[in-house]
Amino acid sequence: MTGRTKRLEPRVGRALPTGLALTDDLLRIAVIAGDIVNTYNPLNDIDFLCDADALAYVVSDHPWTLPPATARDVEPARRLRGRLTRVFRAAAYDELDHLLLENPPSLALAAGADGAPRLLIEAPSHELVPLLAAQMALSLSVFLADPAAGSLDVCEGPDCNNVAVRRGTAPPTCSDRCRTALDASAQPAGRPARAGTRPRLGRPSRR
Ligand SMILES: [Zn+2]
Repeated sequence: MTGRTKRLEPRVGRALPTGLALTDDLLRIAVIAGDIVNTYNPLNDIDFLCDADALAYVVSDHPWTLPPATARDVEPARRLRGRLTRVFRAAAYDELDHLLLENPPSLALAAGADGAPRLLIEAPSHELVPLLAAQMALSLSVFLADPAAGSLDVCEGPDCNNVAVRRGTAPPTCSDRCRTALDASAQPAGRPARAGTRPRLGRPSRR
């Protein structure tokens, strides 16, 4: 035992692939990768990723058209979730390299929702989960390669252990709900830190 406190060390000496800019689309895909990780709550052992509808819901904010989720996709999605969990929670960024090698991404030109041509990330397989694996591994690699983009973290929302894609130096939050709760808890800054000579009444603190 060294007595050192356990903390995440930044990985040094690892060259993440560079050369692609972090677009809004790639950022959204990185956030959805975190949403997939958060379908399993290790605090209460509840797994939300239980059927095709749940999988479709988790990826519903994806910026591009995806193949529809089917019951066959659920187990592969859970396996992908396990690997993404190592990326987010254990900084196992080599997992991204393996995902990229297994699902090499390619760029394809397609019509976006507004009809304008748009560059999308495709994969050798047109099935949902390998496609997500290629898109998410590339998006997370691009995100991590840009030190100004932010970091992969744990949500600072109250009573939350979800992972979060932290943008810049803003507090990491997994959802609008946690963002709102964190903002609210930061509000009573004008309150005196100590009660002074006033008797403590045991009242719950004002929210
Ligand atoms: Zn949260």
